[in-house]
Amino acid sequence: MKRFFVTIYFLFISQVGSSCELYSEPVFDSFYANNYLQLKNPLAFVLQPQGESSISHLSELTNISVKQFVKTLKSEKIDVKLKSWSKISIKEQYIVLGKVFKLQVESMNIKPPKLIIEDDIIQGSAYFDFDLANKSLGRVLLNPKKIAEDSNPYLNILLLIHETRHAYQLAQAFENKTSLQKRYMAAFEQQKISEQLSFSDFLTLINEYEAFQFANAVIGEITNWHVSTKGLGTFASQFDKSGKLKINLPHLFNVHPPKNILPIFNVLQKTQYEILKE
Ligand SMILES: [Zn+2]
Repeated sequence: MKRFFVTIYFLFISQVGSSCELYSEPVFDSFYANNYLQLKNPLAFVLQPQGESSISHLSELTNISVKQFVKTLKSEKIDVKLKSWSKISIKEQYIVLGKVFKLQVESMNIKPPKLIIEDDIIQGSAYFDFDLANKSLGRVLLNPKKIAEDSNPYLNILLLIHETRHAYQLAQAFENKTSLQKRYMAAFEQQKISEQLSFSDFLTLINEYEAFQFANAVIGEITNWHVSTKGLGTFASQFDKSGKLKINLPHLFNVHPPKNILPIFNVLQKTQYEILKE
């Protein structure tokens, strides 16, 4: 995640100088959402209008899963550990992470993906490794060494829950029956294409949008919304200090014509751009 962000940020800065020139083709923006690009695979992106499988419906499903998982964590007293996360040792944190993983898999009612926590297993902090050709539920990879370089003490747990959520989505995608399941499949397929996506394009893929929202909501609920989620999803997947979405896409879809959602989102994303470029 971190490596991805750094790359994207660099690309964005390097493009600023050329933004005034005239182009006959759409210009790729490396931070904001690119409509011309998302239109090539509209099912995959939450900013594109897609009828029956509305974002409101998705939001309701995610909320139910969040409540259920938070309840499980509380019943196992994991919430106590999470509230004092920075006061417990790193070693203990990773023992708790193993328990959280097991409980999350049970709560989502799926076969467990593989969990590998190992220094330098990947270049970045965390990764969900999957193969659409076989029906296994992938591998959740965490790199504690890289995670420790970040100042956010909650990064390990936020990423673990995020990556593990992808395994649930992948199980849904393999079902491939409902329109939501088809959209998950379109998003996972998009991630296997080497097409360049901006920061906001990548994070408004329906699986990234939902997985960041899920993890941020679970940790937010338990810590009274005071944990930083900087860089973890766009503002459409992040919550303010009162637990409200910073950009509420279901609400935007309710009050604006669907084709206006992406440009409105981009205007609202300016705040995140300002925060991340600091
Ligand atoms: Zn992800």
